[in-house]
Amino acid sequence: MYELNEKVRSLTPYEPISGKYPVRLDANESFLSLPEELREEIGRAVSRAAFQRYPDPLAGKVTEAFADFYGISPSLVTVGNGSDELLYLLTSTMLMRGESMLVLEPDFSMYRFYGSLSEVEVVSCPKREDLTIDVDEVIRRAKEANARLILFSNPCNPTSLGLPRQEVRRLVRSVEALVVLDEAYMDFWDQSLLPQVEEYENLVILRTCSKALGLASLRLGFAVANRRLTAALRAVKSPYNVNSLSQTVGALVLREKEWASYALGQILASRDELQAALDSLAAEFPGQLQVYRSCTNFIFLKPAGAAGLFEGLLEAGVAVRRMGEFLRVTAGSQEENRRFLEAFRSLFREGRAAE
Ligand code: PMP
Repeated sequence: MYELNEKVRSLTPYEPISGKYPVRLDANESFLSLPEELREEIGRAVSRAAFQRYPDPLAGKVTEAFADFYGISPSLVTVGNGSDELLYLLTSTMLMRGESMLVLEPDFSMYRFYGSLSEVEVVSCPKREDLTIDVDEVIRRAKEANARLILFSNPCNPTSLGLPRQEVRRLVRSVEALVVLDEAYMDFWDQSLLPQVEEYENLVILRTCSKALGLASLRLGFAVANRRLTAALRAVKSPYNVNSLSQTVGALVLREKEWASYALGQILASRDELQAALDSLAAEFPGQLQVYRSCTNFIFLKPAGAAGLFEGLLEAGVAVRRMGEFLRVTAGSQEENRRFLEAFRSLFREGRAAE
């Protein structure tokens, strides 16, 4: 009988929150949909697509639009089928089997997953008690483990906290490993290393269209690195990894800078409103709710009784993400935030937080 190998035997498919919840604040997506005019333009462009042809392997148009959007050179960019694909690609090609990769804890859980599929040794470095990153400790552990790759998100999913650019620089300069800096949420903060990426021989920065740009459905991610690393990434990716429709639509939306900046403003306003309301709730219930200061489009919370609150929110039709004793809540539309806050406040007042 055919036996699955050890590394895949116990895996189960990724299961997003199922069930019909009218308020979905669990996946850090944008709550904005594209404006009507832009949709019409997209419709026209899609109707002209060469469906019978393979896509452009280097995704030229969307690469140019992305590079122009961020003010960098297109020659430093590799496009992926979501940054997820690039994460998998990096862990499976930049390390030899059995070599070490360093991740931080807590951080985006997929890093560890892709590392283990790639048969590399995943070594972890805990963050401080307050969930901030101790760069000296990361450097120390990386050296101790002889890490060939260090992978972390900044700002971080799930903690929502950011590491100042100066500290990231110090880390990249102090290690021999390749540093993969996942800036999926950097549109919401101002400490990107993108403009200086060429100054580093060991840095790959990942960005995505799934968050601030509101294009999670397209699966468009970007790796930005110096020319030598970019040549390697373009060589190892599969040739037609990004479909033509995503390339076309991504390029169109990335050229709409006014829309992008409007959308970003709306998301930040929602995030700030949610943060302020949760801060007041924390003040109302001392010792029962810790609210982390967000640099992203979501708020990370440590309430007393996360499990009961999570269930209570689902009962009220509101899906958030629970991670052990923490909850992560995406900034939504005004209506979504209101419904979440109303349900959350009621649960606190009913004493569900203390359970
Ligand atoms: N990195 C981080 C830190 C993320 O939170 C996510 C999405 N949840 C990704 C990467 C993957 O994004 P994409 O949609 O580009 O695959």
